[in-house]
Amino acid sequence: MFYDLKGKTALVTGASGGLGLEFAHMLARQGVTVALAARRLSALDEACDRIRADGGRAVVVELDVTDADSVTAAVAAVPDRLDILVNNAGISVPGNATDLSLDDWNRQIATNLTGVFLTAQAAARRMIADGNGGAIVNVASILGLRVAGAVSAYAAAKAGVVQLTASTALEWARHGIRVNALCPGYIETDINREFFASEAGMALIKRIPQRRLGTPRELEGALLLLCSDAGSYMTGATIAVDGGHLVSSL
Ligand code: NAD
Repeated sequence: MFYDLKGKTALVTGASGGLGLEFAHMLARQGVTVALAARRLSALDEACDRIRADGGRAVVVELDVTDADSVTAAVAAVPDRLDILVNNAGISVPGNATDLSLDDWNRQIATNLTGVFLTAQAAARRMIADGNGGAIVNVASILGLRVAGAVSAYAAAKAGVVQLTASTALEWARHGIRVNALCPGYIETDINREFFASEAGMALIKRIPQRRLGTPRELEGALLLLCSDAGSYMTGATIAVDGGHLVSSL
């Protein structure tokens, strides 16, 4: 089948919670063996148990994307062969540019841009060695394409991910590796639910043309498209799933 991912193996970074955990479940439901990667092993163990309880296949891999040795070890620990990387781990430390500390700037660039690069690089090396090509999905953001207040480091890192996606797609196409970026708009998860229930959060939602937040499930179509042969002629692309937020009226 065109969308068939059965028997593939995926590494999902930042899989201990939020969207990464959702992406892991989506892939596991398609018969993909999922290597769940993040720093908190206890949260990963729980996620792994839940996927197995649903009949899926999962393993846990310890990973800090800001540490090159950790990235190399995590990619090497993926069982069988590596077919898919969902490069999802990310952090956000909001703050006006004038007040942003160098430490907060560095942390966001280290996780959201350098971490994405290191993980994609290690995955591509493994995919080339395995000889079967592969699919890399870098999770960027609509903030990599447009801006909002108090997110300068985050937006700069995500814009970097969009260009990194295009440049690595160009370099790795010859190895059968496709690299694409998924740019979610505002998606409701545990960590932002409270904010979006506030007055400021509701004002933000009014600026989204579809007048609501997205659900994690609404990213599934784009994820599976980019991971599977349904997207076999797509590389270097950036797909936004954002309720029209990028085309909101200026
Ligand atoms: P989240 O905070 O719920 O999850 C982030 C995950 O990344 C966690 O598992 C965390 O442990 C992991 N992580 C953080 N630093 C890490 C590191 N150094 N090494 C390994 N893992 C690390 O956030 P989320 O909302 O699920 O976001 C997931 C991705 O989606 C991020 O890249 C984020 O920028 C992007 N995104 C989210 C939204 C949204 O509305 N939720 C919108 C656009 C983009």
